[in-house]
This record gives sequence, C-alpha cells and structure tokens, in this order.
Amino acid sequence: MDMNMLHPAEQLAIIMKRIYTQRLTTTSGGNLSIRDENGDVWMTPGTIDKGNLTRDDMVCIKPDGTVIGRHKPSSEYPFHLKIYEVRKDLKAVLHAHPTGLVAFSIVRKVPNTGLTPQAYFECGQVGMAKYAMTGSSELGERIAEVFADQYDVAMLENHGVVVGAKCLWEAFGIFETMEFLSRLEINAGILGEVKGLHTDLLERYKKAQFPEMGEFVCEVHTSAEKAARKNLCDFAARAYRQGLINCVQGSFSERVGEHSFVITPHHNDRLYLAPEDIVMIEKGKKEKGKTPGRMVEVHRAIYEKHPEINNIVICQPMNTMAFAVTDTPLDSKTIPESYIMMRDIPKLPDPISLTKPETVAEMFNESTPIVLAANDSVIVTGESMLKVFDRLEVTEYSAMSIVMSRSQGEIVPIDEKGLEEIRKGFHLK
Ligand SMILES: [Zn+2]
Repeated sequence: MDMNMLHPAEQLAIIMKRIYTQRLTTTSGGNLSIRDENGDVWMTPGTIDKGNLTRDDMVCIKPDGTVIGRHKPSSEYPFHLKIYEVRKDLKAVLHAHPTGLVAFSIVRKVPNTGLTPQAYFECGQVGMAKYAMTGSSELGERIAEVFADQYDVAMLENHGVVVGAKCLWEAFGIFETMEFLSRLEINAGILGEVKGLHTDLLERYKKAQFPEMGEFVCEVHTSAEKAARKNLCDFAARAYRQGLINCVQGSFSERVGEHSFVITPHHNDRLYLAPEDIVMIEKGKKEKGKTPGRMVEVHRAIYEKHPEINNIVICQPMNTMAFAVTDTPLDSKTIPESYIMMRDIPKLPDPISLTKPETVAEMFNESTPIVLAANDSVIVTGESMLKVFDRLEVTEYSAMSIVMSRSQGEIVPIDEKGLEEIRKGFHLK
C-alpha cells in the first residue's frame, strides 16, 4: 500500500502510535508534522496521550498562521515551521526522545552513521544543534541552522533528535535507523573497540550494491509461489514486531523451484508488505518492474549451491551486529541451545565481500548455517522459514546475553567434552 495516499492527519496518527508501540517515545514526548501541497502544516497536538491519538486530534496550521483543530499544536511547533522555511524540499518533520539517541544527546555526541552501508545510505551525515529551551524560538533557530547546512538529521544537545524527509514514512525509516545505530554503538562499545567504515569503502560499495539483472514477465503464479509470498510477508512483519529488524532492514527469501525463489523488495516497510510486493527471481532474472533486496545475488548463489537450503534471512539484529562492528567473536558455546542452532559462525571481513556471492555461498555447509559479515549483516539459512527464524532469534538472544554478561564476569564456555556430548546427543556433524 502507498501510505502517502492517506490523508496527512491519518499518516500522523499511524506513525505516532507506531513510535509509541515501538517504545521510541513516552506518553507525552515527541511530535510530527507534514507539509501538504497547499503549504498547510498538519501536526500532532501537545499534551495528548501519544498512545491513543486519532486523525481527529491532529492540528492544521495554515500558511497565514491560523490554527484549525480541537487541540493546540505541540509546543515544539516553532522549530517545525522554521525547518520548512529554510528547506523547501522537505515535506515531513519527526522529533522524539528515544533512549539510545538521548544517551548520545546527553553526552553531546553524534552516533556513527558509517557502521553499516545501509545505515549510512539511509541517514547520511548528521548535524548537532546547540542546546536551547524546548519550544523556544531560539531552539528553532539553532535546529534550522543545521538543516540550512543541508543536513536532514539533527541531534539536539540534551534533548533528542529531529529528522526531515520527503515524506513521513521516509522520516520514520531514518528515525528508526538512527536509534538502531545509537543502540548498536552502545552495545558494541561494551564488547570492545567499535569500527566504522571509511567513506571510500562506502562509495565503492554503493556502486557495487545493485548488480544488473535481466527481467522476465511473471505470467503464471503457482499455488506454491503464492504460499511462499505470504510466508515472507508474515515472517518479515513478525521479525519487525519481535525487534529483530527495523522497518527498512532485512531481506527474506524462500525457494520455490530448482532455479527460482521469491524475495522481499528493496526498502518497503517490513510491517506492511503484501504478497504482490514480493519479487520472483527465476534463473537469475527478476520479475519485471520490481526491485529485489540488495542481497538478491547472495540469496541466489546460496540456493544454487545448496539444494537442501529452502529459506534465507539476511538482516541486522542489534545485538548480533555488535559482533559485526567489533573484533569480538560471536561464540555459540554458551548454552547447549545456542551451540545446536548456531554452531561456529565465520565472519566475512567487510561489506565488499558480499559482492562476490559465489565465495559467500561456499562458506555454508551442514555445520555452518550462519555467516556474519563485518559492518553489514548476518546471513541465516535453513530448510524452512520457521527453522531460519528460530535460528535468527537464538542468535540474537545469545548475542544479547553475551553483551549483558560483560558486567558480571568472564564467560565460562562449554568445554570440548560437553560439546562432544551435544554433537552425539543431537546427531550434529
Ligand atoms: Zn522534544
């Protein structure tokens, strides 16, 4: 569904509720606005329960300053108007105080957006606005200065973050990615030195990330293919709700034949995927008019090399990724379930390695179902989507436990005798 076809007030209600449900704001914090084609600014109201807003609660500020609506606009409305004044290209502004970004804001640091290519391409460079009291015109001036310098994201000293974008859905994707980056850097910092990517590598990767693919017209849709399409929508939304991915992350795929599979599209909101959004891939060609996730060639190469693999997820869960941006190995010898599901996890040195799909595919075998790519993602494979999803959850939960254990002492791994017992008992290779 194209969410931009909804009335601005409807969009504001949906996204505000979502920010609250995702625990990215408190009941009273945060405000959003959309500037429509008339120049009217639609905005969330002040001091109303953010968990229960409806479209009728939204306020409209006309270009002459007249306010229409049954509530007052948010007290932070001056900086929204100021941003629209200096940046004619922006149509939506999102502001909130999520915990990870506030942690950066109160030590007056900007999160490193170069931790993964996807995050860098989503958020770009981020500016910092000097402290001024909330709701003051001075704060508006300071934020507008950052946006006038062509930044689309501003961290606010001792406050939170402001994102400007071409639509509210784009702003929300950037906002969730910013919060992801902040929590990733915090978690990774517990493990060791956090390593970002150099701009030249990011630029090199940008050119290589979307390989040329031929197209074909998908004339007949089999029942098996339709079932696979729905399966991907359901699991992508479930991964989002379970906090394993954010709204624009992750590619999910399912084999439908010897040389064909279906895969999630590039960049569509993972919560609202519909079967018709899913992209069919056949003999290396893509369904006409659609853009598959950027890792489509890695999915293809793995399916070609491993007939036993029927599903693949490539994504960036926050705790697992802490091991992808530091030199700390993700050790599965913590509890028996982790060892059984994860086994040994090899690591690719950088995102560029993913542009050689055949080499990536060779890394998988019966005792290696998961591969981690430094500063990029984790690749999880299996014989069914449920198995892959379970494996992904076990990996993320195990990673979280290791991060949490750091303040409590040294990890005592299961010894070789214990591992041999597990391998025998569970018939592992
Ligand atoms: Zn605020």
